[in-house]
Amino acid sequence: MNVRDSEICTHAFEDHQAHHGAMIPPIYQTSLFTFPDLETFSHSQLKEREHFVYSRGLNPTVKLLEDKLAALERGEHCKAFASGMGAISATLMTLLGQGDHVLLVNQTYGPTVELLEHLRGFGIEYHTTAGGMDEIERALRPETRLIYIESPSSMLMQVADLRGIAELARERGILTAIDNTWATPLFQKPLTLGIDLAIHTLSKYLGGHSDVVGGAVVGPHALIDRIFERGHQLLGATLSPHNAFLVLRGLRTLPIRMQQHQANALRVIDYLERQPEVARIHHPSRLSGDAQRLARHQLSGYAGLLSLELAAPDYARIARFIDSLRIFKIGVSWGGYESLAISPLRPDGSGVPLIRLAVGLEDSELLLEDLQRGFNAIRT
Ligand SMILES: *Cc1c(COP(=O)(O)O)cnc(C)c1O
Repeated sequence: MNVRDSEICTHAFEDHQAHHGAMIPPIYQTSLFTFPDLETFSHSQLKEREHFVYSRGLNPTVKLLEDKLAALERGEHCKAFASGMGAISATLMTLLGQGDHVLLVNQTYGPTVELLEHLRGFGIEYHTTAGGMDEIERALRPETRLIYIESPSSMLMQVADLRGIAELARERGILTAIDNTWATPLFQKPLTLGIDLAIHTLSKYLGGHSDVVGGAVVGPHALIDRIFERGHQLLGATLSPHNAFLVLRGLRTLPIRMQQHQANALRVIDYLERQPEVARIHHPSRLSGDAQRLARHQLSGYAGLLSLELAAPDYARIARFIDSLRIFKIGVSWGGYESLAISPLRPDGSGVPLIRLAVGLEDSELLLEDLQRGFNAIRT
């Protein structure tokens, strides 16, 4: 584990003496801030990005979280949001205008695609490519303004060449953004590979306890300032001080949690590989060739989200498998302490016949026993 990251998650940016020595920083549950005189007020109001004026803009509890997230991503600045989608919509709607084109690399989070579909009505075009550099280069248009990447992606865990894309985009004057949720800033630092913006939901590993929804964008001052002024201030998806506090608490254990998610996931994958019913496993630790080299180079660890394909996958079989699990709960999202299982396949046969597992923090023996229940149920 990176020593600097460990310090950022725990002690960095904390000023106990500014808060009566309190070990844990207070929650500034206030909507507005007051000023000693009108001149200070007028000056501060001109730069809400830098001063505490109104909590839709800047709040001390939220700012502490933003400072830590910026440092974890090795970026200059961070803006936090009320949800991952708040961060994504603010970023897209700040950077894009009528006539612009966005290239999506890898399978993109569903609601992000739905938003872009809606933005077609405002004259913004998008389309999707797989991660190969040739394909990406061919898909660029003169009006491409942004390349938006998910790597690893969150259903098939596809990996793209971040440095290659960043170089290509820079040559063409195109901005790059990545949804870095799968890896967390502990296991992947896209800004150090040349990507302009790293976007996170805080609702997954960063919050880490399935009790908070939030989002964040990290990048250079100039871009984050623009996203603050437009997408954040005007769309108004503000992270509450209380939710920022919950994410700060989550961050303190992020390094040890990610170690445990990784160890458990690798153990589960080992087990899955020995089951005759498993046709394929999607996880960045199980790639081959160029994709494997990329994954090893870009990722310093493996998160616990994976998917698998059963041989002969039909809805009834997948449902029997998932319904017989007791430790793995059935639910969306991931990144909390608990293990989860879902399938994007629908009863009418539409959707993808995958089983997605979010491997949690339970003892791995418990998880293997549970999965054995699933296989027993389809082995009849
Ligand atoms: C959950 C998720 C989001 C959206 O985050 P919310 O906080 O739920 O709005 C975005 N991207 C990925 C990859 C996610 O898993």
